[in-house]
Amino acid sequence: MHCALAGLPAGMAKWMAALLWLLLSLVSWQAQAAIEITPTSSVIKPGNQTLVLEDETGRLDFEQVLQQAETLPWQPLQQEVPNFGFSHSSWWLKLELQNTSHAPLRRLLELGSPLPGFIEAYAVDDQGRVRQQWHTGSRRDYRSRPVSHHNFVLPVYLGPDESREVYVRLASHDGLMPAMPLLLMDDVSFLERTQRELMAYSLLYGGLLALLIYNLLTYIATRERTFLLSVLYLGSFLLFNFTLRGFGYQFLWPEWPRFNQSMLLLSVGLLYASLTQFSVEYLNLKERLPRLTRGLYLLTGLIVISVLPAFTDRFAWVLRFLIPLGIGYALLLFGISAWLSLRRNGLAQIFLAAWSALLVGSLLYSLRLGGYVPYGMVSEYSLEMGAGLGFLLLAFGLGCKINRLKQAKLEAERETYELQRTLNQKLESKVHQRTQELEQANLKLATMVRTDPLTGLLNRRQFETLVEEEIHRRHRDGKPLLFAMMDVDDFKLFNDTYGHQAGDEVLVEVAKLLKAHFRRAGDRLFRLGGEEFGILLEAESLQAGRYALERFRHALEQLQIPHEKSRHGVVTGSFGLVCCGDYDQVPSAMAVYRQADHAMYEAKQRSRNRVVTRSLVEEV
Ligand code: GH3
Ligand code: MG
Ligand code: MG
Repeated sequence: MHCALAGLPAGMAKWMAALLWLLLSLVSWQAQAAIEITPTSSVIKPGNQTLVLEDETGRLDFEQVLQQAETLPWQPLQQEVPNFGFSHSSWWLKLELQNTSHAPLRRLLELGSPLPGFIEAYAVDDQGRVRQQWHTGSRRDYRSRPVSHHNFVLPVYLGPDESREVYVRLASHDGLMPAMPLLLMDDVSFLERTQRELMAYSLLYGGLLALLIYNLLTYIATRERTFLLSVLYLGSFLLFNFTLRGFGYQFLWPEWPRFNQSMLLLSVGLLYASLTQFSVEYLNLKERLPRLTRGLYLLTGLIVISVLPAFTDRFAWVLRFLIPLGIGYALLLFGISAWLSLRRNGLAQIFLAAWSALLVGSLLYSLRLGGYVPYGMVSEYSLEMGAGLGFLLLAFGLGCKINRLKQAKLEAERETYELQRTLNQKLESKVHQRTQELEQANLKLATMVRTDPLTGLLNRRQFETLVEEEIHRRHRDGKPLLFAMMDVDDFKLFNDTYGHQAGDEVLVEVAKLLKAHFRRAGDRLFRLGGEEFGILLEAESLQAGRYALERFRHALEQLQIPHEKSRHGVVTGSFGLVCCGDYDQVPSAMAVYRQADHAMYEAKQRSRNRVVTRSLVEEV
């Protein structure tokens, strides 16, 4: 090289040499460095030592690739993890493995995604002979996999000091090239890694399954719809994730590759539909935010519709709609729960936390899926981490919800009880009031029956019973019984002179005066008829009785009620008083009455306005 440039000026030759060196180093950089395999190299991430070739037509076959290996525009893989996003090209990967030891070695190349539809892989020796080849992929029969695994694992054999070029062709049937971390492992590392991975998934699925069963049992016990919907939601998530991660195909339906593809998006549709139902019920959205709820239903409907083309194998096409719709949905639900949380709704706050965890997880995963975010442990498993945390929070939220429902029920029961109590009280007081009214009416009626309406004195009907009782009582006690009759003098004339009305007023006045004078416990006053009154007196003797009557007679006179037709000029009365003192036989009320009447008649005859007394004569 130095000789060829000898003829040129020294400065220019220097420049040319530098340029040539640069070109040569570029070529050598393009040329792939072999990946050294030794018995001690346990895990290698070969991404950075991998070349990639985009075949936009998808028509290059392996023969062509092998023959034109030097001329095809191989590029170093820019990322550690191949992530081509949406692409209709087929992609070729090329790795060169070099066994630098003197022992045969086997390395497992894991293509870390269950999604690639078609995988063709070839291991070629340094003579260009194909030593191993595999034709597998998620669109192919499960039995096409060399190792039964939810991802794709290719066992590459290397003899002592041998090298292998491994070509992998990735093609999708529908245009999604999922991110796919590459790992080159020895058997032991693979075993360890698989165990760790399965343990992590078992924890997630086991936990979710336990939660699902618990919620189902709670639903059976409480009949609370939210629990049933949470079961559907959890179930859809489990189905979705189980399918997404390749476990459904591995364990449940290895015979059905097409079903496997459809199931993935079908479960996405189910997931959104059940999440909507669950959220609406859990947050009571129909009542709280009817319009936004309709919006949520609309978005869910669109998502479910966008998922349908999955049945005709338009997988990438679906994702193009599904991702923006899913993001819109996520933001709407986030907005709803955030708004309710701001209004201090405790259940919504828990929901918001759960949804945020799920949202961040699925958003990150979706972005990673679309190739917008680089592959990494966090972006790859963000979905599971977010979901795990989210479901735990929702379980807590469901607990709170059932507690609320219980409290509301207790409150309702208490209110019913209170209402019943108040009603009973009202009823009781009404009954009490009515009873009192009735009692008063009865009392009034009884009084009306017993008394004379004009004067309020006892009436004639009472006379006989009361006097009879009194006679017996006083006879028993050995006390005298005094009974007086009184008749207003010349009352007919009074009526004739002053009118019946004025006569009534006189009767009322007389009664009033009687009540004022005879107030002892044993005194009884009767209106026996017309202007005739009866007085049952409580007095020690005939004299005492007479004295009391005289005082009354005088008081009546002193009322000075004018009576021009009377010889006394005022209203007066005549009195006949009988006293039953020492008697063997108990006299009848009528006998007492008759004899008092006689005495009164005598008083009438003896110029009226006087008291005539007599002792009771035993009648024969
Ligand atoms: P004497 O002094 O002899 O008793 O004469 P008198 O007019 O009072 O006796 P008489 O028995 O002849 O008349 C009683 C009168 O009393 C007849 C009736 O007009 C009147 N009288 C009876 N009951 C009532 C009443 O309730 N109101 C009024 N204003 N007058 C009555
Ligand atoms: Mg009379
Ligand atoms: Mg009279």
